[in-house]
Formats: sequence, structure tokens, C-alpha cells
Amino acid sequence: MNGTSDSGSDQQRNLRCREAALEMGAEQFRQAGHLLVDQIGDFLQTLQTAPSPSESGQPSRPVHPAESVAEVKAALGSAALPQQGMAAAALLDETAHLLFDHSLFNGHPGFMAYVTSSAAPIGALGDLLASSINANVGAWALSPMATEIEKQTVDWIRQAIDCDESYGGLLVSGGTMANFVGFLAARKAQTDWDIRSQGLGKSGQSLRLYASRETHTWLQKAADLFGLGTDAIVWIDTDDQQKIDSHDLQGKIAADREAGLQPFLVIASAGTVSTGAIDPLEAIAEICRAQDLWFHVDGAYGAFAAMLPEASSDLRALSSADSIALDPHKWLYTPLEAGCVLVKDPKHLVDAFSFHPDYYLFDQDDQQENSEDQPINFYEYGLQNSRGFRALKVWLAWRQAGREGYIGMIRDDIALAQVLAKKVTQQEELQLCTQSLSITTFVYVPRQIPPALSEIEGREYLNDLNRELLEQVQATGQVYLSNAMIDGQFVLRACIVNFRTTLSEVEKLLQVVVDLGRALEKA
Ligand SMILES: *Cc1c(COP(=O)(O)O)cnc(C)c1O
Repeated sequence: MNGTSDSGSDQQRNLRCREAALEMGAEQFRQAGHLLVDQIGDFLQTLQTAPSPSESGQPSRPVHPAESVAEVKAALGSAALPQQGMAAAALLDETAHLLFDHSLFNGHPGFMAYVTSSAAPIGALGDLLASSINANVGAWALSPMATEIEKQTVDWIRQAIDCDESYGGLLVSGGTMANFVGFLAARKAQTDWDIRSQGLGKSGQSLRLYASRETHTWLQKAADLFGLGTDAIVWIDTDDQQKIDSHDLQGKIAADREAGLQPFLVIASAGTVSTGAIDPLEAIAEICRAQDLWFHVDGAYGAFAAMLPEASSDLRALSSADSIALDPHKWLYTPLEAGCVLVKDPKHLVDAFSFHPDYYLFDQDDQQENSEDQPINFYEYGLQNSRGFRALKVWLAWRQAGREGYIGMIRDDIALAQVLAKKVTQQEELQLCTQSLSITTFVYVPRQIPPALSEIEGREYLNDLNRELLEQVQATGQVYLSNAMIDGQFVLRACIVNFRTTLSEVEKLLQVVVDLGRALEKA
């Protein structure tokens, strides 16, 4: 034990000069890194439409290889846990090909599905830099500059959507987590017993929250996971544009109060996930103020569109919410993962999340005179303890594009979705369903529907046809769409959160849908 035996000195010699299996010398790192960066550069080129008219003007790879699970598994191989390691450069080279050849690329200009954006290349470089520093942004002392960069990033997001200076928050992994943080802040702020030590208890059973069925399913997860149960959600009617009916909201809150229940939270969407509908945020904010309820806005999809000077007053009204969920990995085009939550008074986050373990001494150096110069420890503001430096890619993207750059990209995405809607109305077999923000939904309706179908059978026939059509469109690899269900109707849904999409892809999409639709109709 004391290191004086022969075998002990052997050990000492080894420990003075470790050959750690994961260490990379500077030169080795440079070589492997340069190779990888070159490969990624070539990969990006295959996603970019050739700028010169003499070239094809088409990206040189499909949106996805349309492979089966078996094919992807076979490409990976079924190697057992490696016993010995291998050289890093060869490993990275092999892995780059594995991913380039067997992935779906949301950065492809033909990708117009879900609310998943193309990724800013600077974010990839930012992630490399961030993980090289490997800051633990849980505590200021462990990540001095990274924590300050995250604070600045969150504040830029606040400024972008025009919230007061009082608002603050933090970055999280995505929209779901951002909404969770808002939900938990509301749960703590709106209950008058010590919910953090006593739990929900009997009083918790009468808590009620209000949202429409167009709300993303993070809400059911939150109601379940945070102890209220999904029965605590009171579903508010929507109008023919999928927006919350604020009269119904008012009525249901009043009825619940009458019944002795405890309304505490209203959730509205600034851009619903299915159709991009923007709830009447002004009216809902007013109801929440009058009723002393927490007003949470899910802006995971649409919040950043509030930067546009032409944004509607309802969209801009998100800046008055008690808490707001946003998703930089959507309309700020940062690579996954990056979500953000803003709270009108960040003290509510500390109230909801902070515990001070004995083994953390981070809060002792409070000598700074200016309260703005107090170190901030993000572990006290949310669910995570150790936290990665996801702020860097968001911060870099803000600096590369600037507010003006973002306004340009978001405005073009919306304009393309509007052009798509217009072209849909001009196409005999296509019927426009909805258009809001950068989401356009429509259905293929054959010129001749088989006769003798009842209304219900007719709807099922159309649903089946459009479902099959969507699969076939996706399988082409040229363009990629998703779907929505609107009042029981299966609709095709284009969502453009992609700075590489151009009018050419929108035209291609229409051509592919109509060609395949006609073929299906005949089949
Ligand atoms: C995408 C989305 C979410 C979920 O966000 P994730 O980043 O996928 O967790 C929640 N709400 C809306 C409106 C969304 O568009």
C-alpha cells in the first residue's frame, strides 16, 4: 500500500507516464480533425443546391436513403463490445461514411416535415469547440465564461421577442423540457401550501389547468409526471382555425371555481405544432390577469416569428406571458439540442428548483457589491445538475446571422409556405386546408371519387389515399412531408423551417404529390 515494494514502484513508473487509451496528441488530433472537417465540408456541399445555372441546381443526395430497419442494421453490423481499441482517424472516417450514407437529412432543401429545422453549420463547429472546453454550466465556478455566454444568449432571446428586462431563464434540451420548466414554475408559484416538501396532497387534487387539444403532447407528459394526472387538464374548444375559443376558456374557469376546484394555469400556443395556429394570446393574457392565473405560452415552434415587424399582435403578445417556451433548435436553426425557457420573474425558477446540497460551496463567494455581478448557478434554475455548453452554438448563430439575418430567413420560410398554399389552390386535385406561419396543409382529392360511397366511407377513402400518398412521397427521397389530423381528416403537411428550401423544392413537391396522386387514383 505504501508503494515501497518492487511491484509498487512498477506501478509508480506507469502512473508517471500514463498511456491513456483515449488521449490524443495534438498532432494526431489535428490530422483526424482536418480529415473530418474536410468530409463534413463535402457533405454540406451535397445538401446545397448548386448556385450556378450551368450545374444541375439539385442537391446531389436524396433526403434519405429509404432503407428498412434490417438494411440499416446490416450496414452497422452486429459487432460485440470492442475489447481492443482502434486508431481514431480511421474510426472517424468510417463513422462519417456510415452516417452520411444511412441518415435522414433535415438539412436537405427538400425536407419540409415536422418542426425540425436545418442546422446552421456554425453550430456544428460551436459544438466541437464547446465539447473541447467541456464546461459544466451547472455552476458559475465550473464554467465562468460559458455561464456568462449562456446568460447573454438567454438575454438576446428575451430581447428578440421583446420581453421586459425582468425576464430571465435558461437553456434546456428542447421545447418539451422548456415547457416542463414553465409548468413546474407555475405549479410552485400558484399553490399556497409547501408543495415542495408536502407534495400535492389532497389540495393538489383540485388543481386545474386549461389548454386546447391542439397543444403538443408535452402537456400530457407534464400533467402525468408532475403528479397532477392528465385528468387535471381541462380541454378548451377551438374555433375553425384551431385557435382557443376564449369564451369557452372563461366559461370553464368560472364553472370550475364554482365547483370548488383550483384553476392555476392556462397554456396557449404561439404556433401549434400541427397547423401553426396562433391562439388569441391578447385575450387569454387578459383573462389570466383578471383571474390571477399563470399564463404560459408554448412558443416552441412560432415564438421567433414574433421578431418579424409584420407579426400579428396576438403573436407579439407572447411577450406578456408569465413563462414562455422557445426552441432555438427549431427557428433559430441551431443543431439539436437547444430549447429555452423565459420566466417573467426568474425568482420563480429558484423557488421551484433550488436545493443547496452540502457538497456545493458555489454560493459562498457573494462578496460582489453589485447584485448583477453575483455568480449565477444554473443548476438552481431548472431540472439538470451537470449541464453542457449548448449555449455556444446558439450564441454563435445569433452573432453570425444577427437579428436581421434571422428575420430574413424566417420571413422566407413563411413566404415559401404561402406560395405553396397559393399553388395548391391552383391545382385541380389539391385542396388547401390551412396556412399559418410556415405550415401549409392540404389534401389530394381525386377528380372522381368512387361513386356510391357514404360520407363516412368517402372520408375514409380520402384518408387512406392521402396516407398512402404521403408514404410514397417520402419514399421518393426527393422531398419529405409529414401529416396532420384536422377534425378527423388526414392531411398532408408541409412545414418549412429550412433555410435551404427554395421555390424549386416547393414546385418539386407539388409535382411529386400530383404525379403520385394521379398514379394512385388509377391503381
Ligand atoms: C416541437 C414542439 C414542442 C416539443 O419540442 P421538442 O423540442 O421536440 O421537445 C412543443 N410544442 C410545440 C408547439 C412544438 O412545435
